[in-house]
Amino acid sequence: MRKIIRKPCPTILLEPYSRKNPKPRWIVYGERYAQQANRSYYKYPKIDKKKLSHLLLPILMEQTDDHCSYCDGFPLMNADTTIEHFKPKAKFPMDVCNWENLYVACAHCQSVKGEQFNELLLRPDDITYHFEAYFFYDYTEHKIKILPNLPPHKLEKAKKTHEILAFNHKAMVESRRQSYEGFWDKPDYPSVLLKHRFIFE
Ligand SMILES: [Zn+2]
Repeated sequence: MRKIIRKPCPTILLEPYSRKNPKPRWIVYGERYAQQANRSYYKYPKIDKKKLSHLLLPILMEQTDDHCSYCDGFPLMNADTTIEHFKPKAKFPMDVCNWENLYVACAHCQSVKGEQFNELLLRPDDITYHFEAYFFYDYTEHKIKILPNLPPHKLEKAKKTHEILAFNHKAMVESRRQSYEGFWDKPDYPSVLLKHRFIFE
């Protein structure tokens, strides 16, 4: 999981919802979704006839140079470009449009993470997060491993993140191996077009 620098919250989420209800839009959207009886489905509201998700996705994509926020997969296909909620929206409805809770992630990572959430889960855009502070890359096995001798509070976070995001899922290991073997000897290849960029950094 490569470090991400989060872009500032788009003003469209911070603007007052209406004159009568001047709370920021994202709060009002959260309150409404929290009142929704069946939260298995979320329909993004429209602002000036544009779906909110269509306004936010390009910014989330730009934030990761069009890569998955968790595995750094690239390129993202049509099925990958749905908004991923770090805190699952059904359990945390107030965060459904909370900018800090929104990421872009590939279909694989969205599916392994599913509805799982734990307070220990590391965020790629946490200002204190760095891959090298928790993990290292095993270039023989192409597995992401937890650093030895981490203090207990960091070890717990590393373990939980590794488990929930299934860093060493068989397909992911193979994808990283192919990426490494295809590009390790091509230092001039534009890094922004590589997947799993942390392997090469
Ligand atoms: Zn991914």
